Amino acid sequence: MVRLVLVLGDQLTADVAALKAADRARDVVVMAEVMGEGTSVPHHPQKIALILAAMRKFAVALREAGWRVAYSRLDDAENSQTISGELLRRAVEFGASEVLATKPGEWRVLQDLEALPVPVRVLEDDRFICSQAEFATWAEGRKQLRMEWFYREMRRKTGLLMEGDQPAGGQWNFDHDNRKPAKADLLRPRPGDFAPDAVVEEVLALVEARFAHFGRLRPFRWATDRAGALQALGEFVEERLARFGAEQDAMLEGEAFLSHALISPYMNIGLLGPLEVCQAVEAAWKAGRIPIAAAEGFIRQVIGWREYVRGIWALKGPEYLEGNALDHRRALPRVYWGAETGMACMKAAIGQTRDLAYAHHIQRLMVTGNFALLAGVDPAEVHEWYLSVYVDAFEWVEAPNTIGMSQFADGGLLGSKPYVSSGAYIDRMSDHCAGCRYRVKEKVGERACPFNLLYWHFLDRHRERFQGNPRMGQMYRVWDGMDAGHRTAVLAGAEAVLGRLDRGEVV
Ligand SMILES: Cc1cc2nc3c(=O)[nH]c(=O)nc-3n(C[C@H](O)[C@H](O)[C@H](O)COP(=O)(O)OP(=O)(O)OC[C@H]3O[C@@H](n4cnc5c(N)ncnc54)[C@H](O)[C@@H]3O)c2cc1C
Repeated sequence: MVRLVLVLGDQLTADVAALKAADRARDVVVMAEVMGEGTSVPHHPQKIALILAAMRKFAVALREAGWRVAYSRLDDAENSQTISGELLRRAVEFGASEVLATKPGEWRVLQDLEALPVPVRVLEDDRFICSQAEFATWAEGRKQLRMEWFYREMRRKTGLLMEGDQPAGGQWNFDHDNRKPAKADLLRPRPGDFAPDAVVEEVLALVEARFAHFGRLRPFRWATDRAGALQALGEFVEERLARFGAEQDAMLEGEAFLSHALISPYMNIGLLGPLEVCQAVEAAWKAGRIPIAAAEGFIRQVIGWREYVRGIWALKGPEYLEGNALDHRRALPRVYWGAETGMACMKAAIGQTRDLAYAHHIQRLMVTGNFALLAGVDPAEVHEWYLSVYVDAFEWVEAPNTIGMSQFADGGLLGSKPYVSSGAYIDRMSDHCAGCRYRVKEKVGERACPFNLLYWHFLDRHRERFQGNPRMGQMYRVWDGMDAGHRTAVLAGAEAVLGRLDRGEVV
């Protein structure tokens, strides 16, 4: 009997479990461009275009490799516009008895597959270094999950940057050499853009016609096949990796990419594998082309953070998406969808998100995420925003980063303290404050940086939860040491900012 082999838009590799388990002589690969997925949240037009173009090219590669592929284009008249609908239509068309699928990276899609009236065999997605079972075993019985311990396990498992059973260079973590503020005068090689070819142009026209979501579609700069993704990786390793560690947390006006890799979308949709990426980075260090701090800093992000958040997503299930430990209820401010703001850092992070579908980690965590957390925005709304606006956003990686790391909505499972800061951190790590309508040095009054006001408001309103946290006690002592009149003025200033946000006024 024929089986249908479902390949989703973020499973574009011959290494995906369903393809490995299938028989190309008899099974039919099903790939479907559907409005149901394109609009499940208002995905950035560049993200939709990347996925559709990469799907079309991958389908061609599969056919060339001898697979039968039933491919539904978004504008096909018979397209039912949902994954389930297309599977059922193809099941009838081919008289298929079973669907083979690789576990999707979004619970909603898995639930839809499990509800199908035909037998569906869902295989584990084994494109990760750590399997779900292995993560569950590691997590079992631990009171607190901490990435650093998990990361060391992954170093041992992969052998990356290891000398026998010891870490290369004598230490596991070189962060004290990393994370410097950016220097504006350094010349940085800008990552090359991939000029759209005919396939991409056709997709861009389609996306332009069908999706009116937040975000600019053009210029479209992303690679859409494995060769392009490998080229992007090679260019990063040769030209930017050496400075990756040092500049990882820095922000510069007008410099969206700095020394970042820009490869998360490729890893997340299957064009690159995490291990091959880390091996390329390790090889550059072994060849003496980059410092160990850069190699270690990068590899930790991939075999550490990326695997860790995926483990948490898989372990905690769909309920994780509903976490709201701090009971935050505010609606997401309009500025996130491009409304005017006087805050230079927010303007830069959201502006480049709109234009490029990209912002680097510290912009996501310490600018837009920090602001939403300090302002008490409903984490479900924050989650939907992050899932929508980034080219690399898929639930398994986005949700733990947003709900856990950024919004502390999981109550501290993923990280031991909330990532909150006043304007001083942003001032230290960026050059935004110089050109801002607000004054980062001012603590009260009309021109005080909203991060300064909201930071203390956050600590004050969550005193019960955080005062006893050993990593936060010092900040409470600072707050308590301020005179009462000053504290009242800070809280009143914060309330005024929150009132403006609630009324949809410019902040
Ligand atoms: C609120 C929030 C939401 C995020 N949403 C996503 C998302 O939807 N998709 C996504 O891939 N990453 C997400 N991240 C993590 C990180 O911001 C991006 O992986 C990174 O910015 C991608 O750009 P890059 O390839 O230039 O990364 P680099 O800064 O060059 O880092 C190298 C690689 O490390 C990995 N990495 C680094 N940090 C993380 C992390 N915390 N979690 C997982 N992988 C990491 C990525 O694969 C990345 O490509 C989020 C972070 C935050 C704080």
